[in-house]
Amino acid sequence: MIVLDNLHKVYDGETVLNGLSLEVPEQLTLSILGKSGSGKSTLLKIMAGLESADSGSFSVHGEDMLSLVPQKRGVVYLSQEPLLFPHLSVFENLAYGLKIRKQDKAAIQKDVEVMADKLGLSEHLMKGPHQLSGGQKQRVSFGRALIINPNILLLDEPFGSLDTQTRAEMQSLFNSIRKEFSITALFVTHDLKEALLMGDRVAMMQDGNLQVFSSVEAFINDPGSGAADEIKFWKQFNL
Ligand code: ADP
Repeated sequence: MIVLDNLHKVYDGETVLNGLSLEVPEQLTLSILGKSGSGKSTLLKIMAGLESADSGSFSVHGEDMLSLVPQKRGVVYLSQEPLLFPHLSVFENLAYGLKIRKQDKAAIQKDVEVMADKLGLSEHLMKGPHQLSGGQKQRVSFGRALIINPNILLLDEPFGSLDTQTRAEMQSLFNSIRKEFSITALFVTHDLKEALLMGDRVAMMQDGNLQVFSSVEAFINDPGSGAADEIKFWKQFNL
């Protein structure tokens, strides 16, 4: 279980997280919806150790995470822009986390090949990142994260810069992979449809707090979720 308790964060007098508390059971993906500037990235960055909280706690299986350096947390943060090493091949990018963990060469070779196969990257292993499409880069970024078996994946609008078709492909790929790898994830998006597609549960970020809905139905029926407006919008076309 991931537990966040009473997190506070203030930037230059602006309260961004205001006593935020949350519990996420393992192997579930929680979608977090919220307007731009509502503090979604700040929350994920605090969990990943890229920002610090002013107060509050974050634990995984009862172990305090905030006192650990980022590398020890088992938490991976992925953003819209896949951060790949530009001078390394796809193979080397995928292998990186295993190499620094000093795994032996044969095991690395096997793990990278298996991951590349799952992500449809087998034919691209010798290419450099500049030779890949946006979707392929995002796959490598995913593979690099998954290969080290993290406890939590933090996805910050990961498909935001992809075209509609590639985005749909990545959504379905992620949905199958997260089940196969039993991933626990927080998936930040400002797109209501994507939040519904990607999350086992949906939460909304508002006024520095998260409102977690008990079910997708509860979310759709909540007047503040915007779901009713979206449904009304599509109904006018009588498709
Ligand atoms: P979201 O991800 O929901 O768009 P952010 O977490 O990026 O929101 O930002 C929340 C608020 O915190 C915004 O008003 C933003 O300007 C502010 N903020 C984020 N990072 C910093 C920072 N490093 N320094 C000062 N203010 C920041």
